[in-house]
Amino acid sequence: MGRSPKFLEVGERFGRLVVVATAGQEEDTGKTLAHLRCDCGSVLFRTCSAMRRGNTKSCGCLASEHGHRIGLIYARKKREED
Ligand SMILES: [Zn+2]
Repeated sequence: MGRSPKFLEVGERFGRLVVVATAGQEEDTGKTLAHLRCDCGSVLFRTCSAMRRGNTKSCGCLASEHGHRIGLIYARKKREED
């Protein structure tokens, strides 16, 4: 191995996210950013170290699926009020 554990490989998968490219460094922090694509089609950037910590598994769609039902009901309610 011998690689920095913080550096991500293109094609590496984290839950729904796949590394598309590493995208250079954030200017203010010097952290390496990874360009990721979610299975739902969203594209996002996260620091490699954040990905290595392993708590990012989707663009947020996994989390929003849990709250989806509530969101839909709320949206419908709002529309009825209009
Ligand atoms: Zn997603």
